[in-house]
Amino acid sequence: MNSWISDEADAFEAAAEPLSARAAARPARYLDGLNPEQRAAVETLDGPVLVLSGAGTGKTKALTTRVAHLLNIGRARPNEILCVTFTNRAAREMRHRVGALVGGVVEGMPWLGTFHSLSVRILRRHAELVGLKSNFTILDTDDQLRLLRQLIQAANIDEKRWPPRLLAGLIDGWKNRALTPERVPSSEASAFDHRGSELYAQYQERLRTLNACDFGDLLLHVVGIFQNHPDVLARYQSWFRYILVDEYQDTNVAQYLWLRLLAAGHRNIAVVGDDDQSIYGWRGAEVENILRFEKDFPGARVIRLEQNYRSTPHILAAASGVIAANSQRLGKTLWTDLPAGEKVRLIGHWDGEEEARWIGEEIEAYARGTRGLDPVSPDGVAILVRATHQMRAFEDRFLTIGLPYRVVGGPRFYERQEIRDAMAYFRAAVSPDDDLAFERIVNVPKRGIGDKAAQEINRAARENGVGLIEGARLLAAAGGLPARARGQLGALVSDFDRWHEMARAGADHVALAEMILEESGYVGMWQAEKSPDAQGRLENLKELVKALNEFENLQGFLEHVSLVMDNEQDDAAPKVTIMTLHAAKGLEFPCVFLPGWEDGLFPSQRSMDESGVKGLEEERRLAYVGITRARRYCTISFAANRRVYNQWQSALPSRFIDELPPAHVEVLTPPGLYGGGYGAAAPAPASAEPPGTLMNSAARADVYNSPGWRRMQARSGARPVSQPREARDMVIDASAAPSYGVGARVFHQKFGHGTVTAVEGDKLTIDFDKAGQKNVVARFVTADADVPF
Ligand code: ATP
Ligand code: MG
Repeated sequence: MNSWISDEADAFEAAAEPLSARAAARPARYLDGLNPEQRAAVETLDGPVLVLSGAGTGKTKALTTRVAHLLNIGRARPNEILCVTFTNRAAREMRHRVGALVGGVVEGMPWLGTFHSLSVRILRRHAELVGLKSNFTILDTDDQLRLLRQLIQAANIDEKRWPPRLLAGLIDGWKNRALTPERVPSSEASAFDHRGSELYAQYQERLRTLNACDFGDLLLHVVGIFQNHPDVLARYQSWFRYILVDEYQDTNVAQYLWLRLLAAGHRNIAVVGDDDQSIYGWRGAEVENILRFEKDFPGARVIRLEQNYRSTPHILAAASGVIAANSQRLGKTLWTDLPAGEKVRLIGHWDGEEEARWIGEEIEAYARGTRGLDPVSPDGVAILVRATHQMRAFEDRFLTIGLPYRVVGGPRFYERQEIRDAMAYFRAAVSPDDDLAFERIVNVPKRGIGDKAAQEINRAARENGVGLIEGARLLAAAGGLPARARGQLGALVSDFDRWHEMARAGADHVALAEMILEESGYVGMWQAEKSPDAQGRLENLKELVKALNEFENLQGFLEHVSLVMDNEQDDAAPKVTIMTLHAAKGLEFPCVFLPGWEDGLFPSQRSMDESGVKGLEEERRLAYVGITRARRYCTISFAANRRVYNQWQSALPSRFIDELPPAHVEVLTPPGLYGGGYGAAAPAPASAEPPGTLMNSAARADVYNSPGWRRMQARSGARPVSQPREARDMVIDASAAPSYGVGARVFHQKFGHGTVTAVEGDKLTIDFDKAGQKNVVARFVTADADVPF
């Protein structure tokens, strides 16, 4: 169980200074720069206010100024304002900005925070009303899963078919909708083998006995207290004289009820949001909350902000073009009077590694002041990805070239749990003496080797003066452990023997790594977990295997990782930010890179499979959020091929690319084979025919001759575009897998010319003249004679 969340200074103590003394304390300079609509949002203090408008129109600014205004004119003391932000970071930022606006440090503001942090504070004061003590603990996900597993086992339910994570997701979903066990609708009674709501009730009971709650409970309990104890609610209603909420479009039902109950008295509630930026539907957010605000609070003042202060016209037009394809939206007008600036740039790459390399070079070019532009420090640059596994290529590349970066909202790639586990397997396979590595994974996945068995292994090793694997071998042979654990331990030791022997004999290290992850049951363990989280971990593991391709052997790779992890970054150095699109909400950067715009990756196949058109529209809103984070420069990119495990897969460019309005986008020629090298991107060559779509014009760039691109062209029925002869001849038919014999001379778009040295099915080992030995799939090479130069 994790730490206490301590209460800070008494949030209800009135400030010593009487309210009136603050009144009109300082001239309202902070109102000067606001436009009339923003001023209305700041100065309409009484009654409900809804600011519903597009990205970068100054909603957060208006909200911050409103807090400053309330304080400055003495309408409320700092601790009488309830201000809800989406993240703790946003809360810190807002506190800082309010301070700047009122010209001093804002003491207090204890009620400025996220729904969760504010709920903890309320719940500690009234814990007894829901059967808890005020020092309750907050469970983290691991604790939660452990508890659920116990309940599932006690109920004699097959844990493999009905894993704890599935139940956790179900319960979270109910809590997001403010449903206590008895309120779970009968239509959902069949959930989790007809035992869902029963297990939910047992889980809540267990939590109470443990004096604990999970994250969802924080809100659920507070809503319950407000609903069942009118006296408590009345006290909060009168204490919070003003309520303000940022990012209102992403509230879930529980949060919505929480707010509606608190605001029901004086109705001084101001919310700001943008239906086009609702991106947390998968976590229970209901965009309807913002659309029904006027119904909930009749007479609300609705304010629309239309001037965007953040982005150049090209960026704004590109974002508007994409979001226009959504059907479920209110639609808004946005304009800006900023200078036109650069168009949004679009570039396709041969593969993901090349994409990372190119972006690294571009960031360095921006820092120097590229193309006659003012320099942009790496601090002003963000790389926004759809999936965390995309971060790996950038991290590796930036570590190699010494470009400082920070990963926001999660550990760095090589620090992730699943990556550390996998690396521990590799380490113990390469060096059987690596006790730390073996210890980490001996019971991952579960092999019935608990703490006691682990101690036994340690003892056997110590007594015989050998390493842990040897200790385990002795113990498994000697008996002493329970039969199941003994059998599994013996099997693990002989697995390690085999893997070690293969590594020593120089087996293909990528295939070996895949084999280790499969045979150890590690991949299977995550496959059995049916949660989105597990899916992400599996993707990270694939990404890890992919990274191995860049190295000669496992040893080399392990050395690389320990070196890069040891590479302490200079804290003061300006850093590029790498984060997910989801985490970037509300933020802005002068320069934004949006990599990986490929169908399946973005829009994510999983969202489309699970939620159909609704999922696709949420993905499109994510694209809108991504583009609108950029103030001056925005570059979108995709790769024609991604390596998944050891296989090349060709990808289709994202359908969102074709929704970008061509007039606002510049298509760059990718570097490489025919282009001018990295950083020398040039516009695509002009054609006699005007491009019908961006995809058409992009297709003139040679890299777009990838199989995926060609298939997409065929599928969309787009007319073939005229291309240079050599480029046309380079088109490779993805469906045909020609056969080559040992000794054949072949050509590969990335690695150049080479000689086939081994053939195994459709996999070739090729000794490339320049790139050295590589394994490639036959359909990605052409016979040398076919190459026209
Ligand atoms: P998002 O929808 O992305 O959350 P937002 O509507 O909250 O955006 P803000 O972040 O408040 O927009 O503002 C965007 C940028 O515009 C900020 O840099 C902000 O300082 C600036 N800005 C907002 N209003 C004005 C104004 N009246 N004059 C000058 N700059 C402004
Ligand atoms: Mg904002």
